[in-house]
Amino acid sequence: MHPENMHLFHGNILYARSRHELAVYENSYIAVEDGVVEGIYETLPEPMLSLPVRDFGEGVIIPAFSDLHVHAPQYPQRGLAMDCLLYDWLNDYTFPLEAKYKDPEFARAVYDAFTNDLVANGTFHACIFGTIHPEATGYLLETLEKKGLSAYVGKVNMDKASPAYLCEKTADSLQETEAFLEKYAGNKTARPLLTPRFAPTCSKELLAGLGRLAAKYEVGVQTHIVESKWEASQALLDFPDASSDMGIYEKAGLLEHGPVVAAHFIFPTEEDIRLLKKYNGYAVQCPDATVNVIAGIMRNSFLATQGVRLALGSDIAGGHSIGIYTQAARAIQLSKLKWFYEPEGNNPIGFPEAFHMATRQGGELFGRVGAFEKGYRFDALVIDGVEDSFLTLTPEQKIERFFYAGTKDNIVAGYLGGEPVSLQ
Ligand SMILES: [Zn+2]
Repeated sequence: MHPENMHLFHGNILYARSRHELAVYENSYIAVEDGVVEGIYETLPEPMLSLPVRDFGEGVIIPAFSDLHVHAPQYPQRGLAMDCLLYDWLNDYTFPLEAKYKDPEFARAVYDAFTNDLVANGTFHACIFGTIHPEATGYLLETLEKKGLSAYVGKVNMDKASPAYLCEKTADSLQETEAFLEKYAGNKTARPLLTPRFAPTCSKELLAGLGRLAAKYEVGVQTHIVESKWEASQALLDFPDASSDMGIYEKAGLLEHGPVVAAHFIFPTEEDIRLLKKYNGYAVQCPDATVNVIAGIMRNSFLATQGVRLALGSDIAGGHSIGIYTQAARAIQLSKLKWFYEPEGNNPIGFPEAFHMATRQGGELFGRVGAFEKGYRFDALVIDGVEDSFLTLTPEQKIERFFYAGTKDNIVAGYLGGEPVSLQ
């Protein structure tokens, strides 16, 4: 312990110890040394007594959020065309918007606004889709790196079944992706990830080429897996040799060289589940998107009992809210609906499980973030102003209320690696 390098924060401290258990320390201190959690104390030990304390009073200090599925270029479209289903929503609204990112100036303006809103809503770790455009996507990645945010960012690949203005030539797509991987290979916090949009818009040659890049650059993959019945069946029509949607990516060699992030995972077969577990991948639930443009509810408690790692995604702009706290509340709501209509194996989840997905489990993708055990990076939020004069709330209840009824204004401070973050 080196008290001279230490910062102390006081308040109510809360994090997920496991999927079902929250660690709660009321009126306590968290000691942070060189940006990393040293310990939590109800009473300060003697050597720390003289250190200055940042006091948050009745506020609750929680780990910052992780969003494992979000489309930065769709930010201008949030809350629009929500009465469509996926196919029409993509073709009539999303693809025309994504085409605008060939204009770097448009891209810079949106990506600045997107990144600021992400941070203001307490998401300091994210797994993000760009577009097919390397320059625009590079700007997004550089912006996140400059802010020190933990991120994986992908230049999207799509070389078929897409509108002509957004459809790449296979060779160009591979060449530009390789240049993107090379350019950002040395990044510290925001790194590239392969991002084939989904199987129906990728040729066999494209996926095989991406598989070779995965091996050469030791990089993982993010994509949409069994997100709708249409996508799940179209993928297997396009790749008749594959055992399942996940099997398409295994066959291409895309699952064994880095993180595997499977967005939605609503209609998995046993083979999809087996493969996701085999490669230690994440199933990312995007609750708002599920009820906006995709009709289906992830079986999150069933998947958890199968040993699948679960995280949350805002899925801007299939989802309309960028705050992962709103998605955590929605995940609880949807698990109840799932259980009501299909009780078999679909127990509703509780607040601890939703909090675990939003912080600790999602955070695992980025290293030791998302909890406050010794050695975890102090990426933290302070939540306050959710209480009224009618009831006294416990720290857990304050966060529960924040998830359901809070706004970004309730995030009164943020820390990234122990340093204060501007939430404006
Ligand atoms: Zn998506």
